[in-house]
Amino acid sequence: MRFFKCLCVGFLVWMSAAGGVFAQEARLTEALPNIYSMVDLTGNGANAAFITTKEGVIVIDTRGSKQEAAQVLKAIRKMTNQPVVYVVNSHFHKENISGNGVFKSARTIIAQKRAQAMTVLEAEREKRKVTPANLSFKKKLELKLGKYHLKLIHPGPAHTDGDLYVYIPKWRIIITGGLVSNRIIPFLGDSNIESWINALVEMDDLDAEVIVPGHGPVGGKPIVTQMKHYLMELKRFVNDALDDRINLPGTITLVKEKLKAKYSKWKHFDRIDENIVRAYVEYSAKRRT
Ligand SMILES: [Zn+2]
Repeated sequence: MRFFKCLCVGFLVWMSAAGGVFAQEARLTEALPNIYSMVDLTGNGANAAFITTKEGVIVIDTRGSKQEAAQVLKAIRKMTNQPVVYVVNSHFHKENISGNGVFKSARTIIAQKRAQAMTVLEAEREKRKVTPANLSFKKKLELKLGKYHLKLIHPGPAHTDGDLYVYIPKWRIIITGGLVSNRIIPFLGDSNIESWINALVEMDDLDAEVIVPGHGPVGGKPIVTQMKHYLMELKRFVNDALDDRINLPGTITLVKEKLKAKYSKWKHFDRIDENIVRAYVEYSAKRRT
């Protein structure tokens, strides 16, 4: 079993929120030499990752606020004085992109085409400022910096319809963005469950050993499998209920009870009801077509 090195750099930011004040705590983890993740410990925020090379730094996701992004930059500066050359946004959710502005000096901010558009649209809708990607792609993009060769892959609609994950074959590591949460019930509000399962099947087949998830601690390949199994079980239980013509409230009660056995210890079990509704809507619609 591989143990990931905790660098014991804990970060705590106090932020005012609508209902009061809360803490966003994160910890820096060395996933592999020169590849780090700032891991959110609360279950509410998202992780960031960065790769230090002799030609500069690549940052993947910038977290949910300027303050959180500043912590990432501070951690980078403890490792290297090289400039941040590339910033990659795994998808458009606020907790992944809100720190982009802190890395404005980066030459390029990259996102999948749909994520780039959604970043701008959502910011306009919510009347907040954002620094969107200035380079986008549809299916695949390769990045080279120093000795690092990254493959940015859009797997089709999954957690959102503009996801990307980063695969570095030489180092057998995947930085998954929103596609994998480690022992956290995912947010499915913008998801396509069927297509997300297919994306995880594809990811599970890649030759990789270390997984940096979008949420939760760094792990190995089993955390991809675990995420895939959660979605597959959600799909199966909801489809069983649809086969039995059980209405939505009945399905929520029944499926929640089934999922509880295995997933009640995961963070954000409070999302289960909305996950079941999402699956019910998606798979009912499939039966009508
Ligand atoms: Zn997300």
